[in-house]
Amino acid sequence: MNDYKIIGAGIQGCTIALELARKGKKVTLIERDKLIFNRASLRNEGKVHLGLVYMNDPSFKTPSLMLKGALLFRKSLERWIGKKSFDLGLSEPFYYLVAKDSFLKAEELEKGYQKLQEQFEAWKEDNPDWDYLGTKPEKLYERKPQSEIQRIFGNQLVEEGFLTAELAVDTSKLRNHLRDAVLSNKNITVLTNSNVEKIESFGGFFNVEITDSKGNYSLSAEVLINCAWDGKYILDQMMKVPLPPELLHRLKYRVIVDLPENLRNKPSATMVIGRYGDVVNQKNGTAYLSWYPEACIGWSHAVKPPEEWQLAAQGIVEPELSKNLSDRFLIEIEKWYPGISSSKPKIIDAGPIVAYGKTDVDDSKSTLHNRSDLGFRSIGNYHSIETGKLTTAPMIAVNFVNSILGE
Ligand SMILES: Cc1cc2nc3c(=O)[nH]c(=O)nc-3n(C[C@H](O)[C@H](O)[C@H](O)COP(=O)(O)OP(=O)(O)OC[C@H]3O[C@@H](n4cnc5c(N)ncnc54)[C@H](O)[C@@H]3O)c2cc1C
Repeated sequence: MNDYKIIGAGIQGCTIALELARKGKKVTLIERDKLIFNRASLRNEGKVHLGLVYMNDPSFKTPSLMLKGALLFRKSLERWIGKKSFDLGLSEPFYYLVAKDSFLKAEELEKGYQKLQEQFEAWKEDNPDWDYLGTKPEKLYERKPQSEIQRIFGNQLVEEGFLTAELAVDTSKLRNHLRDAVLSNKNITVLTNSNVEKIESFGGFFNVEITDSKGNYSLSAEVLINCAWDGKYILDQMMKVPLPPELLHRLKYRVIVDLPENLRNKPSATMVIGRYGDVVNQKNGTAYLSWYPEACIGWSHAVKPPEEWQLAAQGIVEPELSKNLSDRFLIEIEKWYPGISSSKPKIIDAGPIVAYGKTDVDDSKSTLHNRSDLGFRSIGNYHSIETGKLTTAPMIAVNFVNSILGE
């Protein structure tokens, strides 16, 4: 086969296109946005998860999967970006701060972290050329004395903490590398401003109905790959792929700020486990902020999230909402990241999160704590990709292409 059409040009569509193109296949990437890599893959926290945030998954599959995705992340990108060394704008490392009302206490978290460390040791031994975003940490975490944690983060909300090896990438740098690789690849044709309205199969082919700025037209495809993230399930339905039980779309906002001088080069921090937040301290003097109770405005179990989410997901947010959100984030995060309220908000936008669950992350029984059901579902030559996380997308791209090419 040599006619591959991919719906959606986020990290998942772009990396699958690049991997197919690397193997000599002709690929068309169809994207509804005017730009590629302009939705969830750009407007997220950029954390390349070592698995530490998923300690409430009793099967332990999610932490293991994240760790594997993280250790393959840079290496997979290398094959498409074509250089051994490239700048992903790595953040300061994360402290994991155990909230006073976290439903897992520091001792329980430490047990899980130790189990993850053991997997990490085994993985390192079997794969001597491993790396984590170009670094080679010995330990994934170190429990810090309570006095140190409370000196840095205060004692209002936080009880205990760990310094970890976890890092985030700058998603705009990641976007630039992958966008340049896609746009310069002769095997890849990119159609932007092209919304896939309908798909159907007949006679061994697929018919793809598209609306672009000039009107409607159809394309045919021998192999059709659905990487549409929040736009995926409505298309899956047309192909009779069963919907996952408890499908959940959440719209989560982020605020990017310019940090005051005294907070530059300070650590990143994630509060666990529940409806808390993150500060991702970038080396360029900016930080990503999120405070979950205010950030997570949209919640929908519909097969397609509400149309009004689309604007924020392209970076367009009403000034009044922007101001309310950034004010609230700064007030709430100041309680556990002192000094942050002097930051200057500069970007406020949102991204849809696709997951499965009925209750939120502060419910210890919520299925949101298990994100291991990732990969792909195939019906003949129709393939529907469950990206899951930014962390796992490059690994999924390589595995998926190997699988459909029988390698
Ligand atoms: C706020 C937030 C924070 C997050 N933080 C992290 C994190 O720290 N670490 C992590 O690992 N993951 C994180 N994630 C998850 C991560 O962002 C996603 O898993 C990942 O970006 C999904 O990639 P994708 O390519 O599948 O989706 P997208 O990047 O959204 O790409 C899908 C593309 O499909 C297009 N599309 C949809 N429907 C159609 C259609 N009908 N026709 C044509 N095109 C269509 C869309 O326009 C879009 O460009 C976060 C997500 C959010 C929202």
